[in-house]
Amino acid sequence: MAGFRNGWGLVRARPRTIAVAVALALSPLLAGAQADPSSLYPRIIEAREQSRFVPDQALTTLLRLQSEAAGAPPATQAELFNQLSVANMRAGKNDAAMAAADRLIAYGKSLHDDSITAKGLMAKSYVLFDRAEVDASHQMVFDAEKLAATSTNLALRSQIEVTVGQAYAEMGNFPAALVKLQNGVDTARQVTDDPVMLFGALNALVNLYTQLKEYDKASTALDELLNETEKLHSPGRMAIAKNTEYGLAIDSGQPKRALRALLQSLDLERKMGAERMIGMTLVNLSDSYLKEHDYPRAAQYANESLRSTQQTNDKSVEATARVNLGQAYLGMGRIAEGKKQYEAGMARYEQENNKPDLQAALREYGEALERVGDLAGAVSAYHRERAISNELFEKRRQQSVLELQEKYEAEKKQRQIQLLSQENQVKGTEIDNRRLQQRVWWLLALVFALASMVVGLLYRKVRHANAQLEVKNLELKAQSTLDPLTSLYNRRHFQDFMRGMMPPDPAQPEKRTVHGDDIVGALFLLDVDHFKNINDRYGHAAGDAVLKMIAENLRIALRETDMIVRWGGEEFLAFLPAIPRHGVDEIARRILVGISSQAIRYQEHEISVNVSVGFAPFPLVPADVPLPWERAVNLVDMALYLAKAHGRNRAYGVRGFENFEQTSMEAIEQDLESAWRAGYVDLSVVLGGDPETPPPSPSEHSNVVPLKHAAHKAGH
Ligand code: GH3
Ligand code: MG
Ligand code: MG
Repeated sequence: MAGFRNGWGLVRARPRTIAVAVALALSPLLAGAQADPSSLYPRIIEAREQSRFVPDQALTTLLRLQSEAAGAPPATQAELFNQLSVANMRAGKNDAAMAAADRLIAYGKSLHDDSITAKGLMAKSYVLFDRAEVDASHQMVFDAEKLAATSTNLALRSQIEVTVGQAYAEMGNFPAALVKLQNGVDTARQVTDDPVMLFGALNALVNLYTQLKEYDKASTALDELLNETEKLHSPGRMAIAKNTEYGLAIDSGQPKRALRALLQSLDLERKMGAERMIGMTLVNLSDSYLKEHDYPRAAQYANESLRSTQQTNDKSVEATARVNLGQAYLGMGRIAEGKKQYEAGMARYEQENNKPDLQAALREYGEALERVGDLAGAVSAYHRERAISNELFEKRRQQSVLELQEKYEAEKKQRQIQLLSQENQVKGTEIDNRRLQQRVWWLLALVFALASMVVGLLYRKVRHANAQLEVKNLELKAQSTLDPLTSLYNRRHFQDFMRGMMPPDPAQPEKRTVHGDDIVGALFLLDVDHFKNINDRYGHAAGDAVLKMIAENLRIALRETDMIVRWGGEEFLAFLPAIPRHGVDEIARRILVGISSQAIRYQEHEISVNVSVGFAPFPLVPADVPLPWERAVNLVDMALYLAKAHGRNRAYGVRGFENFEQTSMEAIEQDLESAWRAGYVDLSVVLGGDPETPPPSPSEHSNVVPLKHAAHKAGH
């Protein structure tokens, strides 16, 4: 099929032009329209659509709109310059087109608006491409890409991505081209207010897939393209899409579909009077007939295309028309004419520096020359084809090496950045951990210090409280055991003391002796004589002073080991645990004399008192059975009353019991005096210094003071 691939290059040349044209027609700055009350912007967009198909009319419209643009927003003015450049270029007026593009760039720079400047660079790149200044054109596109990299204008970015992709394809860098075009499609999908963006991007992508022989992907993208184009209701856009469909169909072996698409396209273009497009469609028609080996028809359409493109000043398509015409003439045997047209077409490719198309054209040229017997021409064509092929291969290899290097460097940097950031993270985490640890330690220390402080405080408080408690307890104990007025033991303490004492063992009565004398305990009970009188005459305080004096006297008269108790109001009890039996009376006498001899001064008065005393040894053991302490005290109390009754200021003591078997303890306790007179009890009588009455004898009854105990004694 080598002989029928002559039109192949042409199909590839077209998509670029088409896609560029589509991108050019786009108006990404719709925001400007909203800000423009004069509705200038929509009219510029209308002209944009005209420009694609009838550029002369569009140019007229745009020049008229220029007079209204003076006060319009920057976006509107920018779009007007942009469309003026495009329309001029389409109308074959490249100088005017270039001037408009330069004005747009200057305008963007004066506003420091990178988006507008980028738009200007794009306009300029299309004019440069039309002038076949391909490298300069590519440079413009790449510059525009950099400027618009951060632009929020998605339509502009999509347009630039698509054009950059096409530039890469022209440079033979297809992987980069594919990436850019796919990005362009993705970006275009995000443009919500201008569906033409997606149309342009998809159209370029289908052409690239076709060029890469990725027919399945091309077919899928084409379906979407045709679908989107339907929605636009634009015969011009549909004509473009049909041309694209032709390219895929013819390359993927569907000639009938290819021809049908082309004829549909031509029909649409003729109705519109879109001369430039007609020229392109005609060249594609000639290509399809070349593939059918129908050289005369191929030549016919190529000639038609040539006339059309010369009229519209479309140099690129004109070049392809010449290549196709040359191919057709060669097929028809018109070798000289064929070679002339072929060479003329390829000269333009060379001028455009369009290496891929040139290479394809040279290969087909060589095959055609070989078929017609021009072996020298064929060899020359092969050599040129090989040279370009090597150049392209070398370029691609360099590019891929550069790309690999770039990719490697980028990845290396990325890895380094990652490593650094990981290191930073680790360090940061370490620092954080350390800080956290420190904080925890500080907190713990603080908590510990606080806890110690609290414990210390509590401990001190408790110790203080305990000390206080001890003092209080001592006080309480003292209070509970001591009489506050005299500081002698109180009655309760004595009771407790007695209860705590072991009861005397009747079987082994205690026998203590010193120098052959019995050592006994003794109880003395005192009552102040006529104490009421003191209170009455000198007052209660004087009475208190007397009580204190008595207490002091008792302390002096007795030993420290003796227990002195305030028994009641003006009654005192003394328990002497160990005294010789024969010294008991002497103690009684000492008590009597000690108190009565001591006068106290109270205010201007000298007050002296006497006491009466009852006493007995303790324990008392009447008949081998020791008397309980309460009964012993009771007996001593009875003796005290005897002393009172018999004249006061004296002491009566129970010395012992006689003929005890003839009486009972109960009888004695009921009437001590009677028991004494009956001879059952032996009493000793000790007189004070100045007794009121002389001491009685048990047989005397004359001076007996009535006794309280005797009052209720039956039988007396
Ligand atoms: P006698 O014992 O000699 O028969 O006469 P008396 O005046 O002492 O008799 P009585 O026992 O009836 O009176 C005791 C008085 O002692 C009654 C009370 O007013 C007084 N008295 C009791 N306790 C206190 C005290 O603590 N202070 C003072 N000042 N007087 C007290
Ligand atoms: Mg009394
Ligand atoms: Mg008294």
